[in-house]
Amino acid sequence: MSQENRTNRRTYIKYTGAAAIATLAGCSGGGNGDTGEAEPNHEVPHPDDGTVPDVEATAVAFEGEERDPDLVQQKDADAVNYQHTPEGDQYCGNCEEYVPDEDGDGYGACLKVAGKIHPCDWCALYVGPYEGDDVASCSM
Ligand code: SF4
Repeated sequence: MSQENRTNRRTYIKYTGAAAIATLAGCSGGGNGDTGEAEPNHEVPHPDDGTVPDVEATAVAFEGEERDPDLVQQKDADAVNYQHTPEGDQYCGNCEEYVPDEDGDGYGACLKVAGKIHPCDWCALYVGPYEGDDVASCSM
């Protein structure tokens, strides 16, 4: 093998090896490293999560019922099992219980769950999908 061929072979191995390592590293990219689930596309925990603005606290959900702040469960309740990513094609923004964002902060509220609700979140109380024109999109 000529000197030039050896050099080319070393260069090939160097770059294909680096590409293989990058590919392996990429397998965990975008996931949380432990479960393989997608990372949230918004701030977690939600800013000022405990403060649902007045304009949403008693507003009407997609399903047509007015929210009662005294009738919500906490996000960490076993029955709620709240998560900060969609569950397949189910997410808060297309849930019948979602109260749309009224103050422009990107978070709405929920008939059943306390705190601010991001359209890309999900919980075990999901009902839907809501298919109205005003559905809140989630592009992950
Ligand atoms: S998925 Fe759960 S938290 Fe989200 S709007 Fe529906 S009921 Fe509320």
